[in-house]
Amino acid sequence: MTATRSQALFERAAAVIPGGVNSPVRAFHSVGGTPRFMVRGEGPHLWDADGNRYVDLVSSWGPMILGHAHPDVVHAVREAAVHGLSFGTPTEGEIELAEEIIDRVAPVHQVRLVNSGTEATMSAIRLARGFTGRRKIVKFAGCYHGHVDALLAQAGSGVATLGLPTSPGVTGAQAADTLVLPYNDLEAVRQAFADHPDEIACVITEAAAGNMGAIAPRHNAELKQLCQDHGALLIMDEVMTGFRVSRAGWYGLENVAGDLYTFGKVMSGGLPAAAFGGRTDVMSKLAPAGPVYQAGTLSGNPVAVAAGLATLRAATDDVYRTLDANATRLGALFTAALTEAGVAHRVQFAGNLVSVFFTDADVTDYAGAQRADTWRFPAFFHALLDRGVYAPPSAFEAWFVNAAMTDDDFEVIADALPHAARAAAEATQ
Ligand SMILES: *Cc1c(COP(=O)(O)O)cnc(C)c1O
Repeated sequence: MTATRSQALFERAAAVIPGGVNSPVRAFHSVGGTPRFMVRGEGPHLWDADGNRYVDLVSSWGPMILGHAHPDVVHAVREAAVHGLSFGTPTEGEIELAEEIIDRVAPVHQVRLVNSGTEATMSAIRLARGFTGRRKIVKFAGCYHGHVDALLAQAGSGVATLGLPTSPGVTGAQAADTLVLPYNDLEAVRQAFADHPDEIACVITEAAAGNMGAIAPRHNAELKQLCQDHGALLIMDEVMTGFRVSRAGWYGLENVAGDLYTFGKVMSGGLPAAAFGGRTDVMSKLAPAGPVYQAGTLSGNPVAVAAGLATLRAATDDVYRTLDANATRLGALFTAALTEAGVAHRVQFAGNLVSVFFTDADVTDYAGAQRADTWRFPAFFHALLDRGVYAPPSAFEAWFVNAAMTDDDFEVIADALPHAARAAAEATQ
């Protein structure tokens, strides 16, 4: 496969866009090589500027559960667009999207729409602080909650990919009220509450971790109890898991209720929209109902809302069964190929999020993810890419299946994986 045009575009981009990309992981820094510039997506496939076709296992980092350019979603977007792109007034679609979210996720009674997952977590934390009158927040190492200043400490996703502890530009004051604890370590949470009585406004956690690779939570029920005991709010960040791992997201699999929820990705069907929601007594503290300020010129944008509604309405029980089956099938192919090549590995699931860790130990936290042989990943990644399989370009990301994948796509993956497993086996540190 050639990447001549992608390479030329990347060079042109680098002159006018920092690093040539508008979100860091897209630049392929941790795997090397030329980021592919995509020109088209349809169903389970992407096509790049050189005309290469890929089976897409990134799905726009989660949103495209139905596959690309799903006819219902494209139709809804067209319909909405011809009626006007933005009014800066309330619209009926916003109510429908809020109702759809509330109908799916029982602990959510009110919803505010925003433009990105970052805005959702930032606003949820402001609200938790406003509601409790407390300053400190607890987050877990390896969890990513967007690029909110106070949440960048030991973040997953691109921050993990680039090996950054936090970020220049985040002041000591912004980070000082953030306590970063190991994921799945309840003793550390108990200790934090003991050390900071009446100071912790909230604990924010990925409902299931996906941004350090897929790691299922073992602490959610106890987190809820600890928060309740100490008067703190539990913020379940379901930006990645929401409406992907089940009809009701991770809540639908585990039934542990958070006080606040954040959503993004799937709920806007590939357009920029996100949301936060939760208990009415907390949400009603938001302006204009209450004193905690939060706003947005394009919040509840009618085209984004239409894409989100069409996506959620098309995401039937059948779609969730297919996503689960596709994840299981992908995991089995990883296991077969890596076992055959003699590469130590753990294939882990969090619902239908899948990850491969090159290690023979179960990975339960960020330290475990970092201990894996991540240096094997670039060879694994490029062997797949060369054979038409588009994987997440980082060892610290989950793989995202979609419901449009067919037997033919799994054949492409099954043919590519033995090469990738051998490349991983032959990789050197
Ligand atoms: C992607 C993600 C975010 C940030 O969402 P953006 O829309 O990229 O700002 C926050 N939390 C989690 C769990 C995510 O996966």
